Amino acid sequence: MGPAALYDNHGRQLNYVRLAVTDRCNLRCFYCMPEEGIRYLPKKQLLTFEEIERLITLLAQMGITKVRLTGGEPFVRRDLMNLIHKIVAIPGIRDVHITTNGVFTAPYVKELKELGIASVNLSLDTLNQDRFRIITRRDEFGNVMDTLNQLIDNGIPVKINAVVMEGKNIDDIIPLAELSKDKDISVRFIEEMPFNGEGNHYTTLTWTYRKIFDYLKSHYPEIQKIADPANSTAYHYKIPGYQGDLGIIAAFSRTFCGTCNRIRITAQGVLKTCLYDAGVLNIRDLMRKGVDDNELKNALMESFRQRPKDGFEAEALRKNNIPVSESMSTIGG
Ligand code: SAM
Ligand code: SF4
Repeated sequence: MGPAALYDNHGRQLNYVRLAVTDRCNLRCFYCMPEEGIRYLPKKQLLTFEEIERLITLLAQMGITKVRLTGGEPFVRRDLMNLIHKIVAIPGIRDVHITTNGVFTAPYVKELKELGIASVNLSLDTLNQDRFRIITRRDEFGNVMDTLNQLIDNGIPVKINAVVMEGKNIDDIIPLAELSKDKDISVRFIEEMPFNGEGNHYTTLTWTYRKIFDYLKSHYPEIQKIADPANSTAYHYKIPGYQGDLGIIAAFSRTFCGTCNRIRITAQGVLKTCLYDAGVLNIRDLMRKGVDDNELKNALMESFRQRPKDGFEAEALRKNNIPVSESMSTIGG
């Protein structure tokens, strides 16, 4: 029998951890990082694989069943596959997912399939090679498409994540949606958030989830709302006759906080119980101070019992009103 379900102070079940294995990245998506990159953490400040394994083991004992590895770009962390082998074997962890930009991922797809990886989220904001270069500031479109094809060929469930940005990829919304026509994949359109590592090019959100929906509806008048899986952050839709589906994620409007089941561990080993908080517990420092498993679980539980009710409250609670502007690359998305 597994552990009892884990709940926060608002009665929301917590069963999902998103862990950034690195803050480093080989791309420079302009909505995530400045052109010159961010100041990367010294490697010693990243959680080691042993620390990650210990942490996930404890979280699984507390009721976490789902893990997503993210970053930065997970595949720039050396020996990532060794870590994945360890995580899939942790008792209580039922499904392991990965979010990747797909540049280095293709050679590992077969092994991911053998390991039973539950799904891969692939970030792809455009199907146009030039626009890809402008958005990511790197010329890697071909490698990403290779990964997409490998994932599909190997039968790994794929979700495409596309951030919708005025002046950048509006012409891609329909071509991206069309990917769901012949392929059983989910294409999700995401509101842009201010986590770009600089905070200055972000003004107000133009492409809200409503506007994205209206745009899709104007092209696909027959688009249908379908059921959203429990705890999903996306509103799901289907175009009749299409194999896959579409999603819209109101990441900035924060419509999904009431059912939020996730916690985050940043690349430097800090717990975030909300995407918009500034970090609530330095797990890495506790581990390196030598706390035992029970002490660590108690500290985690205390944080889970003080979760803000939504992303607006979390943002308001940030100390000294420091605005949200850290790079998503340290948080993991
Ligand atoms: N490097 C991997 C990737 O790009 O898939 C994993 C990390 S990335 C930070 C995770 C997700 O966060 C990506 O899908 C990316 O599009 C999204 N993201 C990054 N910055 C964002 C922002 N400012 N607003 C909305 N989504 C963002
Ligand atoms: Fe790298 Fe992902 Fe951020 Fe793009 S979104 S810069 S791929 S971490």
